[in-house]
Amino acid sequence: MKPSKLYVVPVQLSDDSVLDPLLTYLAHAFRLETEILWKEIDLAKAYDAKRHQYYSSTILAQIVSNPPADAFRMLGVTGVDIYIPVLTYLFGEAQFKGLGALISTYRLRSEFYEQPPDAQLFHERLLKEAVHELGHTYGLVHCNYPGCVMNSSTYIEDVDEKMVSFCRACAKIIGEGGIE
Ligand SMILES: [Zn+2]
Ligand SMILES: [Zn+2]
Repeated sequence: MKPSKLYVVPVQLSDDSVLDPLLTYLAHAFRLETEILWKEIDLAKAYDAKRHQYYSSTILAQIVSNPPADAFRMLGVTGVDIYIPVLTYLFGEAQFKGLGALISTYRLRSEFYEQPPDAQLFHERLLKEAVHELGHTYGLVHCNYPGCVMNSSTYIEDVDEKMVSFCRACAKIIGEGGIE
């Protein structure tokens, strides 16, 4: 069986209703079949009591372990705040040219920035981060083309400034499969 499916793995999401529109969009953007995979993830292993955050790589390792035979990509979507040791926080992490990626919704909601709730804005941010991290799994590096979804994002303003789509150069790499 040729790996053909993008599995989305929810990890302690407060609101599962964000998943359906995400799966629909990703199926269209990457021309892949998408499916939710409920999987046991031990978040306690990733928790850092001093930082009150979860080590992203520990979660990602669990997401990609024992993948289904038809898994082409695995995308974790978590509601918890994630980090890697050299950074204060992350919107997401990906395995470069690899199987898996992880995004966190924790810092995508307006409420986090003491702004009124904005479901549409949250949805756009979620799509951008998902597409961005999956882009890395296809071998895309950060891109400086204005608005390209592969622009690096340190702050939420950076996320808001970019589009949800790839620039032509990045799209070409994705279209060619990106990965051998
Ligand atoms: Zn990136
Ligand atoms: Zn680009």
